[in-house]
Amino acid sequence: MSNVERLKNRLADFNALTSAVAIMEWDQQTYMPRGGAAARAEHVGILSRMAHEMFTADETQKLLEHAKGETRDGTDEQALIRVTQREMDLRTKIPASLVEEKSKLSALAHEAWMVARANNDFAGFAPYIEKMFDIARREAEYLGYKEDIYDALLDQYEEGATSADVRKMFGDLKGPNIQLIKDIKERGKPVDDSGLYGEWDERKQREFTEKLVKTIGFDFNRGRQDTAPHPFCTGWSVGDIRLTTRFKPYVGSAIFGSLHEAGHGMYEQGSPTEWDLTPLAGGVSLGLHESQSRTWENIVGRSKAFWKRFLPDLQTTFPQLKSYDLNTWYRSINKVEPSFIRVEADEVTYNMHILVRFEIETDLLKEKLKVKNLPEAWNAKYTEYLGVTPKTDSEGCLQDVHWSGGSIGYFPTYSMGNLLSYQIWNALRKDVGDTDALIEKGEFQPILSWLQKKIYSQGRRYTPKDLVMRVTSKPMGAEDYLAGLDAKYKEIYDL
Ligand SMILES: [Zn+2]
Repeated sequence: MSNVERLKNRLADFNALTSAVAIMEWDQQTYMPRGGAAARAEHVGILSRMAHEMFTADETQKLLEHAKGETRDGTDEQALIRVTQREMDLRTKIPASLVEEKSKLSALAHEAWMVARANNDFAGFAPYIEKMFDIARREAEYLGYKEDIYDALLDQYEEGATSADVRKMFGDLKGPNIQLIKDIKERGKPVDDSGLYGEWDERKQREFTEKLVKTIGFDFNRGRQDTAPHPFCTGWSVGDIRLTTRFKPYVGSAIFGSLHEAGHGMYEQGSPTEWDLTPLAGGVSLGLHESQSRTWENIVGRSKAFWKRFLPDLQTTFPQLKSYDLNTWYRSINKVEPSFIRVEADEVTYNMHILVRFEIETDLLKEKLKVKNLPEAWNAKYTEYLGVTPKTDSEGCLQDVHWSGGSIGYFPTYSMGNLLSYQIWNALRKDVGDTDALIEKGEFQPILSWLQKKIYSQGRRYTPKDLVMRVTSKPMGAEDYLAGLDAKYKEIYDL
C-alpha cells in the first residue's frame, strides 16, 4: 500500500468520527428531546477530542510527510495533501491548552449571552467579550500573519482572504450601497408587504418548500428537509445532505430559508463521489458556500421569472394570497427596509450589518475600541450606515451568537458570498444564455449543471481565490453586485 493510500485510510477514520459528531449535532437541533442535552454535550465533546487527537497524532503527521514525496503536480492526491496540510496547520499551531480554554469559555459565554440578550444586560456579557477577544489575539499570534492580526483569524474561515481584501470590498460597497438605501427610503415608491404576514398551515408550507427545492435540483434521494429553530444545512456524505427550515408568521421565512439552505445542500451534493469522506469533498470556503445559498435564495428565488412559474402554485396552496398579481408579489418579497436585526435583513441592507461588525471586531481586536464603549460605537454605526438607531442592546450589539463562540473574523464571509453570487451569476449567464426564460419554464437543470461543473464538482481542489479566478476570470469585486442591485431595485422602487 502506498503512503497516500495509508493517509487516505487514516483520514477516513477521522472522517467517521467527525461525521458521527455532525449527525449528533443535527439530531440535537431537530429531534432530540430536551432531556438529552447534557449527555449529548458530553458525547460530542469526547468524540470531538478523539477526532482532534487522531488527526494531530504523530502517526498522521508522519503519513502526511511521507505521502508528500509520492504525489505529482496537478493531481487530486496533491490537492488532498495541500488541504490536509492546511487543516493540520490550523489544528496544531494553537496549543491544546488554549483550545481547551476557549471551549470552556465558549460554553460559559454562550449561556451568559443568552441571559444578557433576554435581559438587555450588556454589562453582564461584557467580561466574556473581553476574554474572548483576548483569546482571539493569542490565537492569531499562534496562527501567524504577515500584515494584519485580523488576517490570521479571517483565514480560518476564508483561506487566503485578508483584512485588506475586506477593507477594499467595503470601501467599494459602502458609498453606493448607503446611497441606494437612502434613495429607496426617501424617494422610492412604497412597498407594502403586510399581506405576507399571517397564519400559514405548517404541513402545507413543508410540502410547498419541499416541492420548490426538489424542482430547483435538490436530490431527496440523497438528502432530506426537517425543521430547526435556526435553519442550517449539514451532511456527512455526498449521499446524505440535510436541510432545515422554519415556519414563521412571515410566509417568506420558510420559502427563502429553504431555498437558501438548498443552495448550500446542492453544493454539497455536487461533490465528486470519489472524494467522498475525504477532506477534498464539500465546499471550498464559507464565502463560496454562501455565494451558492444566496444565488438560489435571492438571484433565482426572488426573481420575477421564478414567481411567474411558482406564484400560481403558491396561490393554490394558500388561497389567501389569491389577490396578488405577479408584480405586486415580486415587489413585496423584495421589500427593502433598514432594520436592527441582521438575520432578518433584506438583500440591499444586509452588507451594512456586516460592515458594522467588521469594523467593530477589528477595533476590539486591536484594542482601539474598549469593550465598555461597544454599544455606543455599534449604535453610532447603525445610525450612519442604516439610518436606524437600536433602542436596546438586545436589538443592537447583543443580537449575534458569533462572538460568544469566539467566531471572530467570520462575518465578512457573508458579504463575500453576496458579492460572489452576482459575479458568478454573470459568468454563468455568458454561457447559459437567457436564464429568465429557463427559470420561467421551471427548467433549472442548465443552471445547476453549469454550477455543478464549474464549482460543485471542484470540491476543495483549488483555493477559494483560485476558484473565483477560474470561474469568473477576475478576482472578487463589488461591481457585479452593485450593478445587479441597482438594476433590480431601481425598477422595483421606481427610481
Ligand atoms: Zn448560508
